[in-house]
Amino acid sequence: MRSLLIKNPVVIGASWIGAYLVIILFPLLILLFYPPTPNEQRSFWLEFSVALGFIGLAMMAMQFALTARINRVEASYGIDLILQFHRYTSIVAFFFIIAHPVILFIDNPQTLQLLNFLQAPWRARAAVIATLALVLLIVTSIWRKQLNIPYEPWRTAHGIFAVIAVAFGLGHALGVSNYLGLFWKGVIWTGIAVAAFWLLIYVRLIKPWFMLKKPYLVETVVPQRGDVWNLVLRPRGHEGMRFQPGQFAWITLQISPFRMREHPFSIASSAEHPESIEFGIKAVGDFTNTIKDVKPGTKAYLDGPYGVFTTDRYENTAGFVFIAGGIGITPILSMLVTLAERNDERPLLLIYASKTWEDVTYREQLEALKDKLDLTIVHVLRKPPEDWSGETGYVDKELLQRYIPKRPATRNYFICAAPKMMDAVEVALHELGAPVTNVHMEHYNLV
Ligand SMILES: Cc1cc2nc3c(=O)[nH]c(=O)nc-3n(C[C@H](O)[C@H](O)[C@H](O)COP(=O)(O)OP(=O)(O)OC[C@H]3O[C@@H](n4cnc5c(N)ncnc54)[C@H](O)[C@@H]3O)c2cc1C
Repeated sequence: MRSLLIKNPVVIGASWIGAYLVIILFPLLILLFYPPTPNEQRSFWLEFSVALGFIGLAMMAMQFALTARINRVEASYGIDLILQFHRYTSIVAFFFIIAHPVILFIDNPQTLQLLNFLQAPWRARAAVIATLALVLLIVTSIWRKQLNIPYEPWRTAHGIFAVIAVAFGLGHALGVSNYLGLFWKGVIWTGIAVAAFWLLIYVRLIKPWFMLKKPYLVETVVPQRGDVWNLVLRPRGHEGMRFQPGQFAWITLQISPFRMREHPFSIASSAEHPESIEFGIKAVGDFTNTIKDVKPGTKAYLDGPYGVFTTDRYENTAGFVFIAGGIGITPILSMLVTLAERNDERPLLLIYASKTWEDVTYREQLEALKDKLDLTIVHVLRKPPEDWSGETGYVDKELLQRYIPKRPATRNYFICAAPKMMDAVEVALHELGAPVTNVHMEHYNLV
């Protein structure tokens, strides 16, 4: 019974949330048990503002853990949910942190002097620097696209702003604790600072070092329909990465993993063959446009596998429905080829939206899978040829209703497509009676 509970994903997921709440509220508990100056009268608003600052800073320090791609945490929720949580909690932390000085200034206007950067004590200067870094962090993240900041420089700046905001924030908390002689608060903030620093070392040095030990070599780069390139990697000197079909990995190509310039791609090949890992990469930007020129023998590094978008988590379902749009076919192809290798006999339906018939990526491979699986493929074309008698336009509720089983709750649904299509399909599936727990999505636009 106990071991069943320990393995139950809901219990594991709830435990991580519990651990998160305990960590962010811990500094507040210390504040309750060890009030700053028992003899001195401190106003409610002062205490309240300090409490908000404490929680906000602890939440910011926890962002390092949320984005460190810790496999166990990631396996409970999936990377999109974690990043969504990261985004929302950053905004909440931001408001807590901003409210901390604002309440302080209103409660005791004399404290406004602390904004005089030249004369203020260093702990107040640290707070100003941390807050400015936090403002830049939030503005450049929420409005990255509107500000026309390309992804790579944004990611580098994001890391730098985050380190400055948290390091100076912790410096401020530690400085105030020492100044007021608050021993336990000093201890707790030192502990949080050490943990955040360790996570930084883990992400920047330890993880890349492990990746360096397990290199891959590019075997081939083969063009596919729809401006997609099939990149085949072979492990060099090790057995390759074990993964579940539909999962993804972060790829570093041609450069050292310490450079931290990596891109996420779904694995498109069979989970039964970790000795040959394939990716289908659509040319859309700086990095993906270079794939066609990558030479066989080029070194590559993988960080993974990640993701919960996999049929392997739903062994007991009666069948699967896959809904892909364009390059969203890659994780679905991995699931289909793996099911074929495992001689799976369950009914499978693939609804696959593409622009034109010539653009249908992996068209021939998918057709060939029909011989090995109980697979129905419905192609939906936005610009069909004149003699096309199949489905056209967009994947909507009416189209889905024509194909999905009469008892939708008997299937698990996997959607990977452009954000608009995913949202529309998700709503339509729920309206048609597919339970929320049976609908799974993989988002390609993390940021
Ligand atoms: C879980 C997941 C699986 C994916 N699987 C595939 C796949 O199988 N095939 C495929 O073609 N594409 C896949 N993508 C999308 C792919 O990662 C981006 O298209 C690629 O990183 C774009 O890089 P670029 O420099 O060519 O384009 P850019 O023009 O620089 O970027 C285009 C957009 O891609 C995103 N992006 C860029 N660089 C990164 C990065 N390093 N990390 C995260 N996002 C980035 C940003 O939203 C950016 O706005 C996947 C994305 C995710 C999150």
